[in-house]
Amino acid sequence: MKAPAYHSCIGCYRGDTTTVVSIKGEAHFIIAALHKLTGTPLDEAAAAFGVHAEENGFDPGMAPAGRVFMAVRLCSDCAAKNGTTVVEESAIASGEPVYTYAQPE
Ligand SMILES: [Zn+2]
Repeated sequence: MKAPAYHSCIGCYRGDTTTVVSIKGEAHFIIAALHKLTGTPLDEAAAAFGVHAEENGFDPGMAPAGRVFMAVRLCSDCAAKNGTTVVEESAIASGEPVYTYAQPE
């Protein structure tokens, strides 16, 4: 099973992607959102979730409990193709409020 390389777009695997899709919710919500927002097949979305869970500081191989925030790289081309709103990763790093796909409470 292929998993996206570090800093690559989840949709097309292009490296040096600086835009991310920002998602907040439980693990199942995030996987479904990745599938829908990035056009990634569901099994790859689940694999990518594992990779990004580790990158976001969660235990690899374990679904984080409760609602978590996850930013996954998606290039502007793939975002446009899927009608998805992406934000600059640097904006998240600097603590700016960014557009986030959030699981309804
Ligand atoms: Zn892409």
